[in-house]
Amino acid sequence: MNDLGYGTRDKRGNWQPNDALQTGALFRWPFSITAFLKWLPGYFLPHNVIFMGLGCLFWFVLTPDRATLQTLSWDWALLIFARNSILIAVLYGAMELWLYRKRAQGTRFKYNGKFPSDVPSDVFWFKNQNLDGILRTFLTGLPIWTAYEVGMLWAWANDWGPWAVFGQNPVWFVVFWLILPLIHEAHFFCIHRLIHTPWLYKHIHSVHHNSINPSPWSSLSMHPVEHLLYWSDSLIHLIVPSHPLLLLYHLQITGTGAVVGHIGFHKVETGDTAAVDTHAYAHYLHHKYFEVNYGDGAVPLDRLFGTWHDGTPASDERMKARFRKKCERLNAKPAQSPS
Ligand SMILES: [Zn+2]
Ligand SMILES: [Zn+2]
Repeated sequence: MNDLGYGTRDKRGNWQPNDALQTGALFRWPFSITAFLKWLPGYFLPHNVIFMGLGCLFWFVLTPDRATLQTLSWDWALLIFARNSILIAVLYGAMELWLYRKRAQGTRFKYNGKFPSDVPSDVFWFKNQNLDGILRTFLTGLPIWTAYEVGMLWAWANDWGPWAVFGQNPVWFVVFWLILPLIHEAHFFCIHRLIHTPWLYKHIHSVHHNSINPSPWSSLSMHPVEHLLYWSDSLIHLIVPSHPLLLLYHLQITGTGAVVGHIGFHKVETGDTAAVDTHAYAHYLHHKYFEVNYGDGAVPLDRLFGTWHDGTPASDERMKARFRKKCERLNAKPAQSPS
């Protein structure tokens, strides 16, 4: 495909889309039903439909029965760990292999003109972005994801929490199912903004931001404390009526879904003339500029707090003005006298 029909490439080989990023039409004011209907398919396709499918597969086929879940045991906890790990290894590994090893579509639709493996950096373990990401994903990411999942399934099996079945509250279940991606994003915005405060950034979140040019294995490349915060959105199922199927769908959005913002390509080609939108641009801009797009725009919190960057020169100017003001504020502070 000719990516220059959809965007422009600068002298360094960095590609950017022509169209400005849009925030979710659900919260746009004044509300437009036409804009909402145009936005709606992208809310489900392709990612959330895939996560729903994976949630169903995991719940109906790859989760032990209720009687087994009532007693905590390494046997079934390791089964849950294995199925989560295999999914991530296969999915992230396939993307890495196709787009970054084989480089099957070259740099077409690739935001950053360089491939991480061509630019080794000593900020990573073994100077290797991939290896660093893989190790952090499997050493702490997947164990922490699995710990949340095991704890919640055990709680459900023992009736600990407001668990329900579909027939008891069908309207709420449908609403909850529909808004789970928005709940995930709102939670992510909050914890993400929190770990961008100076101390937490330096000690915790800088690990994730080592990937300035993110690739699939950057997705869950985080400090363990960030992993703990990241999956804490699943605790909502202990507060509002829910069902394990919704929990597993939610864990797919959070866990597997981390890859969405880190693919590094705007579209993944599926044929000579066809491609799938990745929805990666908002988070790519976050990795590029650090202090914009704490969320992905479906929930308009960045717009509300003035940190939304839609990829246009006007957003660049707003961001620079914000940085200038911040510098002025810091410079205006009286210097501390030496003790
Ligand atoms: Zn990221
Ligand atoms: Zn960040």
